[in-house]
Amino acid sequence: MVAVQAQDPAQAVIGVIFGPPGSGKGTQASRIESEAMLKHLSTGEILRAEVAKGTPTGKEVGRIMAAGDLVPDELIVDIVRGRLPEAEAGAGVLLDGFPRTVRQAQALDAMLAEEGHRVDRVIALEVPEAELVERLLHRAEVEGRSDDTREAIAERMHEYHKLTEAVLDYYRRQGVDVVRVDGTGSPDQVFERIRRALPSPSAWEDASGPKGPGRVGGDAN
Ligand code: AMP
Repeated sequence: MVAVQAQDPAQAVIGVIFGPPGSGKGTQASRIESEAMLKHLSTGEILRAEVAKGTPTGKEVGRIMAAGDLVPDELIVDIVRGRLPEAEAGAGVLLDGFPRTVRQAQALDAMLAEEGHRVDRVIALEVPEAELVERLLHRAEVEGRSDDTREAIAERMHEYHKLTEAVLDYYRRQGVDVVRVDGTGSPDQVFERIRRALPSPSAWEDASGPKGPGRVGGDAN
């Protein structure tokens, strides 16, 4: 069982799964969700659902995503603000793909503070860039995601280095526990490393009181 222990076990756990595009955040988040019973909140999934609806916002977001750019902070923060209270009401949340900029991280802190919460732990997946590109091109063949073209992948890597990497330093400076995990190898191997990197498995059982974990569904990414 994966433990992402809260500051106060009675409180919802707030975890972030972090890493560059193609590092396996979505895959690992789904596994952690079912093992540790955290609610997996993927901003990429939410945005893809919005694009699929074909709303005016969805169309605009679709163009941004297909180019490999980040959608504006205000929009993504509003989306998370709409989803967070429900997720926070449960055992905990595992954020996937958010925050991707320091401004988003600051906005998240402000939202969490309203409920007396804070980010408890960041799991940072590390994969060499050449392997990331290979994985994304392979995924393009299997899933046909509009942002898995060579041009969009290059832009997503650029945005990651320019804006997203700094989020890790932001959390380190705040004293948040950042756990670095080797993201190479099979999903099983990576998941095993995550399990080993996190503290005592009993942390979840300890938190299984009235506010403790409740199994929630979610989709793989
Ligand atoms: P993902 O599924 O996490 O790889 O996200 C796919 C795309 O959705 C990204 O390349 C961005 O265009 C957009 N996106 C997802 N999350 C965010 C975010 N937190 N901030 C800005 N754009 C995002």
